[in-house]
Amino acid sequence: MNYEAVIGLEVHAQLLTNSKIFCGCPVAFGGEPNSRVCPICLGMPGVLPVLNRRAVEYTIRMALAVDGRVAETSAFARKNYFYPDLPKGYQISQYDRAGEPISLDGGIEIEGEDGPRFVRLRRIHLEEEAGKSIHSEPGYDPDLSYIDFNRTGVPLMEIVSEPDIRSPREASAYLARLRQILQYIGVCDGNMDEGSLRCDANVSIRKPGDPLGELVEIKNMNSMRSMERALEFEIERQADLLDDGGRVVRQTRLWNEEERETFPMRSKEEAHDYRYFPDPDLVTVEIARSWVDEIGEDLPELPDVRMQRFVEDYGLPQDMARQLTENRARADYFEACVGQVAGDASGEAASQDSGEASGKAAGDARTVSNWMLSELLRVQHENRMDQQTLEERIPPDHLAQLLGQIKEGKISGKIGKDVLDVMAESGKAPASVIEEQGLVQISDTGELEGVVDGILAEHPDDVADYRAGKTKLLGFFMGQVMRATQGKANPKLVNELLRKKLAEG
Ligand code: ADP
Ligand code: MG
Ligand code: ZN
Repeated sequence: MNYEAVIGLEVHAQLLTNSKIFCGCPVAFGGEPNSRVCPICLGMPGVLPVLNRRAVEYTIRMALAVDGRVAETSAFARKNYFYPDLPKGYQISQYDRAGEPISLDGGIEIEGEDGPRFVRLRRIHLEEEAGKSIHSEPGYDPDLSYIDFNRTGVPLMEIVSEPDIRSPREASAYLARLRQILQYIGVCDGNMDEGSLRCDANVSIRKPGDPLGELVEIKNMNSMRSMERALEFEIERQADLLDDGGRVVRQTRLWNEEERETFPMRSKEEAHDYRYFPDPDLVTVEIARSWVDEIGEDLPELPDVRMQRFVEDYGLPQDMARQLTENRARADYFEACVGQVAGDASGEAASQDSGEASGKAAGDARTVSNWMLSELLRVQHENRMDQQTLEERIPPDHLAQLLGQIKEGKISGKIGKDVLDVMAESGKAPASVIEEQGLVQISDTGELEGVVDGILAEHPDDVADYRAGKTKLLGFFMGQVMRATQGKANPKLVNELLRKKLAEG
C-alpha cells in the first residue's frame, strides 16, 4: 500500500544571550559542572525569576524573519513534571493557546519533493533548558549518576511547525533552512553537535486524501542525517503496521543511532498531563509595537534576499549565489573580498604586511566566486579548517591580493593554486609566499628567449615537422618551455616567442 508521510517538527534553538533566561548566570558550552548556577536556576524556594529581555528580543527577531505575528501580550506557564535534571519540578514554558507564545503563524519556503513547499509555522515560544544527567561517561564512576545544572535555565526558543512536511528529505531541508535563518539573524549558532539546535519530529502516515493519521513523536536525533534516518525507519514501521492490519499508537519514541531504529519511550503525553498553569512569579509581558518595529529595522539581510542581490549586483548565476549565501560567514567573506578588489582598483587598499603594492582591479566578483567555491573550499577541506580558522589563515584581503597577482600576470593561475596552498598552511600574505618561493612569473623576454632557443635546439625534428605544416606541435613546445621553467614562464610571451622563432627558419 502507498502511504503519504505527514511530518511536523518542533525545533529547539538555544539563544545566544550572555545570561540565562531568568537569572544572571552566564551561558556557555561546557565548563566545570555546576559552576554556572545560582539559587534561581537551581530552583531554591523563595527565589524569583526575572525575564531576560534579550531572549524576548531574539525571539521577536526570529518571528519577524519568518513572517510570524508577534503577540501584544505574552505569558509564561509552568509545565509540571518530575525529572532529576529539573530541580524545580516544573519547567517554565509558554502554553499553546493564543495570547501566550511570543509569535503565532508565519512560515518558510523550502525546496520540496516537487517544487517549492511552504511550511507553515504554528508558534514560536520561549522556555528554559533543563540540566544534564550524566550516566557512565568517561571520567565518572559508572555506578553513580551525576547531574550538571550549568545548562539549567539557558534560554530555548521552540519553533513549532504545522504538519506540512511530506518526506524525510523535506524535513532536513526545513531544518537546514531554519538553521540558516537562525545563524543569519545571529540568535543561535545552529550547532547540532553541541546541542544548541535540537529537533523532535512528529510523523504519521495516511492514504493520500485521508484525514491525518495517529502521530508518533521521535526524540533524540542529533544530526540531520539521523533525523532523516529516524523518519525513514518510522514511516516504514508505521506502513508495515497498517499493512498488517494493525494501528499506530500515539507515543513518544527514541531514536537509537547505533541500532538504526526507534523504540518506544512512553505513551505520548497530552497537555493536561503537565497541569499547565500560569506562572505566578512572572508578569505578563507587554510587547510594544514600537519595540517590534525597532527590532525589524535592525534585522540583517535574510539569506533569500541576499542571494537575489548577489545575482543582481554581481551578475552571478543563481546556483553560485545560493552557494555563496549558504551561510552568512561565507557571504560576508565574499563581499569583503570583492570590496577589497574594488579598493585595490582605486589604489587604496594595497597589501600592508608585504609592503608591496598588490594587484589593481584584481578581478571581478565572478573570479572571486570561482575561487571561493573551488580552490578555497578545497584548501579548507584539505587542511580541515573550520570557517574561523580559514578566515584567520586566508583573510579576504589576502585572497583579493592573490587574485590581483594573477590578473597582473605576476603569477599564473596554476601557480596561484600552489600559493593558496602555502597561504592555507602558513597564514602568510600571497606576495611573501611568491617572493620566498621564487614563484614570480618570468616575463623577461631575454631570459625566456634563451629557454625557447634551447628547447628548439633540442628538438630539431619537431621543428622541421612544424615548419612542414604540423602547427599543432606548438602545444608540445609550450609544454617543454613550461616544464623547463617549472611553470613560471609567462605563457603569452612564450607563445609569441615560439611563433616568431618557428616562423623565422
Ligand atoms: P502539542 O505537542 O503542542 O500538543 P501536537 O502534538 O498537535 O501539539 O503537535 C506537535 C507537532 O506535531 C507539531 O509540529 C505538528 O505539526 C505535528 N503534528 C500534529 N499532528 C500531526 C500528525 N497527524 N502527523 C504528523 N505530525 C503532526
Ligand atoms: Mg509538543
Ligand atoms: Zn542562575
